[in-house]
Amino acid sequence: MVTDLKKATSLMIRSLTPNRPYHVQWLITRKCNYRCRGCNVWREQDSRELSTEEIKQGLDVLRELGVVEVVLSGGNPLLREDAGEIIRYASQFFITTVYDNGSMATEKIDALRHADFVAISIDSLDPEKNDYIRGVKGAWRKTISAVEKLHNEGIAVSVSPTISQFNLHEILDFTNYFTQREIPIWYCLYSYDTCEQTQLFAIGKRVDEFAIADTEKMVEVCNSLIKLKKKNSKILMTTKILRAIRDLYRNGKRNWQCRALRNFFVIDHLGRVAACHLHNPITSIHNLPKLWNSNEFDELRRKYSQCTQCTYMCYIFYSLHGSILGNVQIAQEQWKNAKLLFKKEKTRFPSSAKPQLSAKPC
Ligand code: SF4
Ligand code: SF4
Repeated sequence: MVTDLKKATSLMIRSLTPNRPYHVQWLITRKCNYRCRGCNVWREQDSRELSTEEIKQGLDVLRELGVVEVVLSGGNPLLREDAGEIIRYASQFFITTVYDNGSMATEKIDALRHADFVAISIDSLDPEKNDYIRGVKGAWRKTISAVEKLHNEGIAVSVSPTISQFNLHEILDFTNYFTQREIPIWYCLYSYDTCEQTQLFAIGKRVDEFAIADTEKMVEVCNSLIKLKKKNSKILMTTKILRAIRDLYRNGKRNWQCRALRNFFVIDHLGRVAACHLHNPITSIHNLPKLWNSNEFDELRRKYSQCTQCTYMCYIFYSLHGSILGNVQIAQEQWKNAKLLFKKEKTRFPSSAKPQLSAKPC
């Protein structure tokens, strides 16, 4: 409890400190056991990765820089033998989120007890549709049982669907299904990598059937989520980002500037740092403190602020919520769901729960 209080106080101080990065995504492995259609990671796996000690040293660097949130992803970060040790170490200092595709969480449940959020990716209430997107038969069933198990064990599990043309028509049903069972939801938005240069980490693959073609429906979904969010605190997106995405699909205009390398950056499995995964690596985690306040980085920041190459939800989110006021908004809307501030009695996720679909298939 004392540790939680110390962590919460330190996080609040860092949130209110200007000119430091808020959010870091660390892709700690390039290995994955799934075959998702919209992803390049499994097509270009790499067995090389940093050692446990190197990752811990990197986390120390992030702490010195004043980072508040760390997302551990990959590949599947839980494929690393030392995932538990890394999560435990990171969670002492940061709001720590760990991603899983639903395949490993049950096996690594003790490691996950230390995380503030465990985000499980699942894309549909329809098992067949989900397994088609994931490229693995039986993925849906395994994922649902992982969500159920984690929730019933008191771990702060959330679900993370990627909104695409493929599941657009069921997003409201999907949201209601999980949030009614007290499972928070964080949306991703289908996007694919478009950079021509050697990017840090290839992730999003172009798949035409996933690209959102029905923009009117997308606007309608965003409006419904904005309305639903007023009475549903389990929707972890802020109203501000839901409005920004709606307006992007309504009139093609971005009402934000990208704040890559200001509010967020990414690190790959070899410790290389880039503003986002679509751009070239610019340094290593160990050299980062020397460069953070340099003219070279300021020049890059100016360049990235004009970039409109992607619509990855996390990057938009941490661009929109860039100021100190933005951090306070995140704190108000999200932290209440984080493990360190979230110790109330949980509703059990009924194992008999069967999704009731009213959505039309795409
Ligand atoms: S989307 Fe995630 S789970 Fe699927 S192949 Fe890519 S890294 Fe693996
Ligand atoms: S918009 Fe920002 S996050 Fe997206 S590719 Fe450009 S610099 Fe990267």
